[in-house]
Amino acid sequence: MSEQTALAISALHGYYGESHVLHGMELEVRAGEVVTLLGRNGAGKTTTLRAVMGLLRSRSGSVRVWGKETIGLRPDLVARLGVAFCPEDRGIFASLSVEENMLLPPVIAPGGMAVAEVYELFPRLLERRSSQGTKLSGGEQQMLAVARILRTGARILLLDEPTEGLAPVIVQQIGDLIRTLKDRGYTILLVEQNFHFASTVSDRHYVVEHGAVVEAFKNAELARNADRLTALLGV
Ligand code: ATP
Repeated sequence: MSEQTALAISALHGYYGESHVLHGMELEVRAGEVVTLLGRNGAGKTTTLRAVMGLLRSRSGSVRVWGKETIGLRPDLVARLGVAFCPEDRGIFASLSVEENMLLPPVIAPGGMAVAEVYELFPRLLERRSSQGTKLSGGEQQMLAVARILRTGARILLLDEPTEGLAPVIVQQIGDLIRTLKDRGYTILLVEQNFHFASTVSDRHYVVEHGAVVEAFKNAELARNADRLTALLGV
């Protein structure tokens, strides 16, 4: 694995209006790593991803992408550095077909996947290419949402709870997908409530509480930290 730092977040503060939500987030994701943000509801995990992408405008501190400071940049400029965000609601356009959804994002960074390449990775989407967004199952929507960000050419993927609301067999497929993307060299920062799932895909974990990191450990150290984690996550 390359030791190059893909994403470095330091002293990151974020606000929704008057509400101070991120209180000095510190974390790092190296190239090719899969890293999870764990934490209770409302801890600030989604907000962290939105702040990295530039979707949370009111933020301060430092977010470096491949060493370049992005804290003042608009989302489209962050995207040009090869970062993409897959939101929790998946953002599928219901009135468009699978293929139309896939054609929507422009290729904005070098190396964006051609549609044929995406279908190779997601045979199910090929079968469903003419189906409307509304007709897709939750798992198919999640696959499409990831397929769409791969089209952009992003190499740093921010995935917000990709397994939420999905049946166990589909969760396994999402796990396979994340491992495949890691094998292909993608860097992934994942928000996950499903602690067990996170342990099957991630190299490292950060636990977030009140908008700050309170624990950081490698996946291999998970068992040793199980009791502490259970207390922190309230599971
Ligand atoms: P969840 O799993 O529930 O999404 P989370 O850790 O991702 O949890 P965030 O969604 O980042 O948490 O929310 C952090 C805090 O910011 C919470 O207190 C939440 O109520 C608040 N918040 C989130 N979105 C907004 C918004 N659009 N306007 C105001 N406050 C918000």
